[in-house]
Amino acid sequence: MRQGHGFGTRSVHAGEALDPTTGAFGVPIYQNTTYGFRSYDQLVDWREGGVPHFSYLRDGNPTTRSLEVKLADLEGAEAAVAGASGMAVISATLLHLVPAGGELVASADIYSVTRDFIGEELAARGATVCFVDCADVAAVAAAITPQTRALYTEVFANPTLRVADLAALGALAREQGLPLVVDNTFLSPALLRPIEHGATVVVHSATKYLSGHGNVLAGVACGARGVIAKIARTLGHLGGALSPFAAWTILHGVKTLPLRMAQHCATALRLATLLVVHPAVAAVNYPGLPGDPGHATATALVGGRYGGMLSFTLRGGQEATRTALNALELCTLAVSLGECGSLIWPFEEPACAGTPAAPPLLRLSVGIEDADDLEAEFVRALGLLAAS
Ligand SMILES: *Cc1c(COP(=O)(O)O)cnc(C)c1O
Repeated sequence: MRQGHGFGTRSVHAGEALDPTTGAFGVPIYQNTTYGFRSYDQLVDWREGGVPHFSYLRDGNPTTRSLEVKLADLEGAEAAVAGASGMAVISATLLHLVPAGGELVASADIYSVTRDFIGEELAARGATVCFVDCADVAAVAAAITPQTRALYTEVFANPTLRVADLAALGALAREQGLPLVVDNTFLSPALLRPIEHGATVVVHSATKYLSGHGNVLAGVACGARGVIAKIARTLGHLGGALSPFAAWTILHGVKTLPLRMAQHCATALRLATLLVVHPAVAAVNYPGLPGDPGHATATALVGGRYGGMLSFTLRGGQEATRTALNALELCTLAVSLGECGSLIWPFEEPACAGTPAAPPLLRLSVGIEDADDLEAEFVRALGLLAAS
């Protein structure tokens, strides 16, 4: 890899070389747990920090290492560590950064399982947690105390698509000397590289766009060599090593990441534009829409490409939601996101006593099917509502 290659070239080639023993083009799956040393002298040399050598699968594997080098390159980081899932890496990162007695200031708009991890596991360990609105940097600054050990946010939040002011958060973190952890799952490095905006550690559910094909669980954390080594150590203690097969699968996914993201972005903008003026739709969350509250902040971060995720609610509540979802043919009613096929999932608001239940928030992961087909699908399904 030469310095200065474009993102598409690096997606294909970074971290990859002809296999040193066979010349295989394309990283092989090293499906083994342990590595032999040719002599006691070689072992001693390795222990004393001489020539690097793999030892045990929990601590590294050539297939996984290729993926880590590729993803560090794409995120503009010095180093990366891959793990068994997004949650494995997110939990190891936060357990390393926020010790007992420390405080985490986290965005209130984050993936629900991350919020549960913070509120249950991190809190049980004796850390305190303050959830804030990361679109409002003054509120984040006000939440910081002498005990604060880290800031945590998503950029376009799952599933509300609320936009964090990443540039201002990066400046605040730098000024306060605090690590800023950013979950970049929704945008991927093809659209945003948070380290350029002051993030210290970038985490991903590689299960989603980096894989792109919905066939494995994986996660990655990217950052400076020192912090990544510490996160890798915690990840090892938790037993979060990635399987070589999953690493190999993600290596394939990443090669087409920029092509897929371009298609996801273009189609999502078309669908959001259709939905926002449709009489059956109550509200649409998509930072690419000029009327979205995060539009200006998002545009400053990602230019004209706003990702493939949007969420919306229907006017007719539960009944309209049932009719529309049952009429969809290309969009599958399923959790997860970032796949080739479009996925839609309803998030139910907990009903308050005495008030009617709020209509479910429908999160749409726009796939790479032809935009004309997806547009026709929504026109047809929502047309059933306008008529009724
Ligand atoms: C899915 C997801 C995660 C968790 O990742 P897993 O690979 O499912 O463990 C974390 N953050 C976001 C934004 C996600 O969408």
